[in-house]
Amino acid sequence: MKTIRSYLAGGWVEGGHKSGAALGGAAAQTLVNPATEEPVAEVAGGPVDWGRAVAHARTRGGEALRALTFAERGQLVKALSKLIHAHRDELIALAIANGGNTRGDAKFDIDGASGTLAAYGEVGIALGKTKFLVDGEAAQLTRSVRFVGQHIAVPRQGVAVHINAFNFPAWGMMEKAAVALLAGMPVITKPATSTALVAARMMELVVEAKLLPDGALSFVAGGVGDLLAHLDGQDVLSFTGSSDTGQMLRAQKDVVARSVRVNVEADSLNAAVLGRDLARDSEGYSLFVADVLRDMTQKAGQKCTAIRRVLVPADMVEGVREDLVERLGAIKVGDPAREDVGMGPVATKKQQEDVRAGIARLREEADSLFGGDGSVGEAVGVPTGKGFFVSPVLLQVRDGKSARRVHEHEVFGPVATIIPYSGEARDAVAIVARGEGGLVSSVYSDDRAFLGDMAFGLAPYHGRLFLGSSKLAGHAVGPGTVLPQLVHGGPGRAGGGEELGSLRGLAFYLQRTAIAGDKPILEALFNKKPEDAA
Ligand code: NAP
Repeated sequence: MKTIRSYLAGGWVEGGHKSGAALGGAAAQTLVNPATEEPVAEVAGGPVDWGRAVAHARTRGGEALRALTFAERGQLVKALSKLIHAHRDELIALAIANGGNTRGDAKFDIDGASGTLAAYGEVGIALGKTKFLVDGEAAQLTRSVRFVGQHIAVPRQGVAVHINAFNFPAWGMMEKAAVALLAGMPVITKPATSTALVAARMMELVVEAKLLPDGALSFVAGGVGDLLAHLDGQDVLSFTGSSDTGQMLRAQKDVVARSVRVNVEADSLNAAVLGRDLARDSEGYSLFVADVLRDMTQKAGQKCTAIRRVLVPADMVEGVREDLVERLGAIKVGDPAREDVGMGPVATKKQQEDVRAGIARLREEADSLFGGDGSVGEAVGVPTGKGFFVSPVLLQVRDGKSARRVHEHEVFGPVATIIPYSGEARDAVAIVARGEGGLVSSVYSDDRAFLGDMAFGLAPYHGRLFLGSSKLAGHAVGPGTVLPQLVHGGPGRAGGGEELGSLRGLAFYLQRTAIAGDKPILEALFNKKPEDAA
């Protein structure tokens, strides 16, 4: 069986801490196929010199990256994209074996990784031969025209520690790495242990291809031990995962004491709101139904951006129920390696238990319209009783006004809940806002006034909104797809973080510095054309 190793301080390390060990977490070090429960790999435990790993990344990796221009770093990031794409089929097979992914799910993750890398490669190339960014225009600071101030942004001189969730081992690793490397910061990346096979193989490919400078990308298999205790004010920590882990990590004594910059991408109770103007035979309505179904079943609902709350005008609920239930009935649940299977298992036994418990919690206030309690009788192509399967479950709250759990508890699986509402924008906004901050919500309507009211009403609570209108059908990816051009993250429950968004994503890894001084000196230093600025 394959042993997954860490790549630290420029070499492969047999071991790594047991998952979360230094911070009290449990150990689960054998990786399995969630459809068959057969072991596919193991992560060996053992001592790691985290101080050395951090120092190596900071010095060797950081110095090498900062010596390059944005355009040169962009070329590196672009080369990573090509590397991942060249090994697409191998990585898809690993995602099916270790992630419970259908082929479509696996492509979504792996193409998301190569696509984001490619996009950031282009961002870097467009920035040209410069090693710092000029932020805005110089401002005259007093009556004297000589005394001006200019903001610039330079790479931080530390290391970027990335801790990722289990659901997107490829995209999660590379969307963060793309931005940090382009900004000039070396990365220590840690995938979630349960689905680490894809990320581990990507790391092997990167090392074998010798694309990156020594120390630019390090990889942690298993837990991070006391890694965070070695971080300081030049370092950053970017976390994706559950709110509980995010809160615990950002409250770590050393992280707080040394002002380590932290970004958290956490839970989200994303909503889809159907406008009352969309007739059942309209393109906009079909788009809405297709997006809800995709988000319920793609990656078995294990997407941070998946639609969890479905707001439907009360007099349209019956039709929506019929359409969703009929379409859900056609989805086969089983071995994701089979072509005829539309949805695989969730990633782990624990995940299965959490989802089943979450469904039970939601059912205290909601009726199950499809999928009952989430049990799957026979999973297609799997020995009876094996695999971490959960049926898609569609619920409807009994009382939209008093329901609480649906706004408080993210069930990270193939589960969505219909919430009837009046059809008025202000009512929909008030209901969605009860989720206390999310990554993305979507609104489906052809009524521009309604879309406007919803957009301005929902924007304060979200990092991203998707406005689905009839004419957009066939032209857009759904709200569940995170795009490198747009910011990803959200306030409140979603962690309060922000990633991606093209150039905006670089800010996390750069230090913005205001420089005040004599105008001709500042102009000479900072107002160079990119080709002269190296
Ligand atoms: P999780 O249990 O919080 O784990 C996330 C990561 O944190 C894993 O790599 C895990 O490593 C690590 N971790 C756990 N305990 C740790 C500790 N004591 N010290 C250092 N690292 C530790 O979350 P998950 O179950 O993987 O992911 C599901 C959640 O992530 C969902 O709530 C989902 O909404 C959220 N999510 C959010 C986004 C987003 O972009 N906002 C994207 C995807 C997922 P081990 O696996 O080794 O324990």
